[in-house]
Amino acid sequence: MSSTACIPAASNDCREFDVIVIGAGFSGMYALHTLRAQGLKVRVYDEGHNVGGTWNWNRYPGARVDFPVAPYYCYTFSDELMNEFDWPERQPDQATVLRYLNFVADRMDLRRDIELGTRINSASWHETTQRWRVETSRGTQLEAQFVVCASGALSSANMPKIPGIETFAGECYHTGRWPQDKDVDFAGKRVAVLGTGSSGVQSIPIIARQCKHLTVLQRTPQYTVPAGNRPVDPAFIAEARATWPKVKRRMRVTPFGSPFIASTTRAKDHTPEQRREVYERFWQVGGFNIVIDTYCDLFTDEFANETLSEFIREKIRGIVKDPEIAKKLLPDYLVGTKRQILDEGYYDTYNRDNVTLVDLRADPIVEFHAGGVRTRSGDHPIDVLVLATGFDAITGTLQRLNPRGRGGVTLNECWKGRFSSYLGLTIPHFPNLFMIHGPESPGVLFNMPLGAELESDWIRDCILHMRSKGLGAIEPAPGVDVAWGEEVASFARMTLFEKTDSWYTGANIPGKHRQFAVHVGGPQYFAKIAEVAASGYPGFALEQENTVTTSAA
Ligand code: NAP
Repeated sequence: MSSTACIPAASNDCREFDVIVIGAGFSGMYALHTLRAQGLKVRVYDEGHNVGGTWNWNRYPGARVDFPVAPYYCYTFSDELMNEFDWPERQPDQATVLRYLNFVADRMDLRRDIELGTRINSASWHETTQRWRVETSRGTQLEAQFVVCASGALSSANMPKIPGIETFAGECYHTGRWPQDKDVDFAGKRVAVLGTGSSGVQSIPIIARQCKHLTVLQRTPQYTVPAGNRPVDPAFIAEARATWPKVKRRMRVTPFGSPFIASTTRAKDHTPEQRREVYERFWQVGGFNIVIDTYCDLFTDEFANETLSEFIREKIRGIVKDPEIAKKLLPDYLVGTKRQILDEGYYDTYNRDNVTLVDLRADPIVEFHAGGVRTRSGDHPIDVLVLATGFDAITGTLQRLNPRGRGGVTLNECWKGRFSSYLGLTIPHFPNLFMIHGPESPGVLFNMPLGAELESDWIRDCILHMRSKGLGAIEPAPGVDVAWGEEVASFARMTLFEKTDSWYTGANIPGKHRQFAVHVGGPQYFAKIAEVAASGYPGFALEQENTVTTSAA
């Protein structure tokens, strides 16, 4: 194994690693486990004061797993983890997922290589030494041959720029940066929730039950379906454990990494009555399955999509008693092309006397002020403002770090026109820097813990390959990112995703360029990256290891 070389001029206490991992969520924790098992010197850094990443920060009321179903949203690499952790509910809440991740950190003895409460402030590539030089928020200088960005696809909070919002004098919380050290008390207070994505929809019914009055500020009405959460049947868990090897294999070959066998029936193959019966059955059971397991063409055919869209609109009209309010809640985009939402009593919340729905399309915000928010039609006094406004998704956290690659080029310069990558794992001009759940990987449209394992394994094997061949640096060869972008786009064009403004396309962030940066091929993607590894990494420029071990750079 080659030595890691420190640059004396950088700092007296420069610390050297083979790999620095940014982020201690599902991805970073597994990356640490699998890289360390190969004898690599690995260190993980995370800004939070607990492991868990997204599951540590998103403590807002109602936060739950949306992926179907416990125990399948979990690590697959260890049978002990599967057998020893008991999931109490089908859609586990945030506290349970965080407990699971803490259990894993202890069980796999990860903590000794994780530094919490420490942000990575900068990272720059040094060509002579073929090393990354990294600085932490504690001022520590680090050096490593490889950097793995496991910083989360949904972790850079989108703080809306609305006139006067900084003058609001009440309490204000972003769902993705929920206080870690106190419970937010809504009792007797006038609350406003801005945003009706998954975070807003999950929190609104709970906040409505706790507060004096709730004002929901809705820009885009959403399709949400019942979560169907309930205690997990012990027999179901026993069966999942007994058949775990088979289930794991199946998750790797289904489009979204789900354990369920996807339907091969097209919506148009059924009569309207048959479709209604199918949708009703899935609606009653609850969960994502109504979108991913009923008809195979919901994401590819507008007619099919409209059949489910209209089914849900009918449900809204049926649940919400006031027809005027129901009308404001009717979505008009293609269902599922924004991230599908699961809820627990969301639409019914609008039947409550203490809830007001403001349709911001018809009645836009004029300004916030110290005591509340003024929309075109009038004033809404509030004590607590909940920003459920989402994230600068997929690329935001990496862009905030804005590493410097070969020749000092910054990531933001490279990504000015498009979010280029090769295999969604590497970036041109950024040698030895890997991403987990980066742009142009399946990331957010696949079972994320499983995807993190598969991507981390690929990174581990790549590093071992380099070490075995005496290679010092790897990066995408010129132009290969363009071809990869075309491949990603060709998969996307088979679907309806690009037709909708969403965080998948970057449309939720003013000024961000539009690019559907998710590889929707799931299993085909993982087969492709495995093939690249097996063929000796075609498409990559590989550099021999420099003999230089120290340099003032
Ligand atoms: P989101 O889906 O991006 O929703 C943000 C909401 O805020 C949208 O309703 C958006 O309206 C609104 N918004 C943003 N900026 C606004 C502005 N300036 N003025 C008015 N409205 C504004 O964010 P999220 O709800 O946090 O969810 C993000 C993703 O995280 C989810 O899609 C999901 O993948 C993940 N998540 C998962 C779970 C889970 O169950 N496991 C829970 C929460 C989140 P527009 O739609 O008009 O842009």
